[in-house]
Amino acid sequence: MARVVQKYGGTSLQTTERIRLIADRVIRDQEQSSELVIVVSAMGESTNQLVKLSGEVSSCTSGRETDLLLSAGEQISSALLALAIQERGREAVALTGVQAGIETEDIHGDARITAVHTAKIEKELDAGKIVVVAGFQGCAGNQEICTLGRGGSDTTAAALAAELRADRCEIFTDVDGVYSADPRYISGAKKHTSLDYNHLLTLADLGAEVVHPRAVVHAKEHQIPLVVRSSFHDQEGTNIQHYDRAASPVVGVTFQNGFSRIQVSGEIEEKEILEGLTDAGGLLGKVQLSQRHASIMIKDEYVQEISLLLNKRRNAFGIHSIHHTEGMAAVHVVFGSRDEKRRLAPLLNEKQLVSSGDVYALECHPLVWSAVVPEEHAVGAAQELHDWFMEMESKKASIAL
Ligand code: ASP
Ligand code: MG
Repeated sequence: MARVVQKYGGTSLQTTERIRLIADRVIRDQEQSSELVIVVSAMGESTNQLVKLSGEVSSCTSGRETDLLLSAGEQISSALLALAIQERGREAVALTGVQAGIETEDIHGDARITAVHTAKIEKELDAGKIVVVAGFQGCAGNQEICTLGRGGSDTTAAALAAELRADRCEIFTDVDGVYSADPRYISGAKKHTSLDYNHLLTLADLGAEVVHPRAVVHAKEHQIPLVVRSSFHDQEGTNIQHYDRAASPVVGVTFQNGFSRIQVSGEIEEKEILEGLTDAGGLLGKVQLSQRHASIMIKDEYVQEISLLLNKRRNAFGIHSIHHTEGMAAVHVVFGSRDEKRRLAPLLNEKQLVSSGDVYALECHPLVWSAVVPEEHAVGAAQELHDWFMEMESKKASIAL
């Protein structure tokens, strides 16, 4: 008998009508084979609504009371889904994160899962029940409820699948798989039928919102096959496992807003600047434009810290002036392998393919080539890069024929 963890996202549970449809689907899947543990997100936009409510009474956006408030969203979904399953004559039990044995760091708003105690879930599965767990939450050692950061229900599902030694972890969502780019913004995006953990992890880390990166880490570490698929139909989704070879030279294109560029000029000692900055974190990459200028790309939240650090060490670093520009975006191309990157990244640099603005090619990851453009050009640049590699793929395919 297969053991499967399934996770349903907010749009799949938006209304009670959809919850009833998911209940039908879950029962059908249990009949086909398996012991089922279901992890649920909060209904529709309800986490955002709860955030908004808290904003109406307080300016504090994190902390124990906020976590208590937000964790309620997932608890409502789990109770409703379990009730809907019971209504159909099947046994189901709804559990909060705490009841499901999810132990976390004592960090409110963005805790990592540190352990999963599965005795209760195992007992309920042995009793033939469908177990419905509220995602996105757990409990620190001191009995404090902590949430796992936005999108954290994916992480709950993968961590449970790992600890329960599930045969697979299925992430049901409103898109039907992992695409070569976000189909909401980029036309011609192609669905992957299979993908390596590392490729998905890189895409997720660099702004693809389809799965939470921490969920991919849990699945990868425990070699749990992940499946990303739609909850609205039965089509096959994307299977994520360990694959020796990437199916295509370029796995995807993503973009992220919220970057700043810091330009520094003077008798710059590049090595010293980089060493000084590594501690501060948040460095995406840097380009040495000439001996007298350097550009550093960092996430907005680190601008202050890094500007301060550069200012403090002006003399040591040989800096004459520091200037920063906000409102930048990073556009990333994720290659299938280091070899493909070695082969293709120089073409991207040479062709100045991203014509829409101020481009900095960065080498920030072994499989990634990134350009930085003003935010308003991010989608256009991503589209250009995506068109380029799709064209390249089709040429390759026609040569093979
Ligand atoms: N409901 C939470 C959110 O909207 C967690 C999740 O959906 O995974 O971020
Ligand atoms: Mg999500």
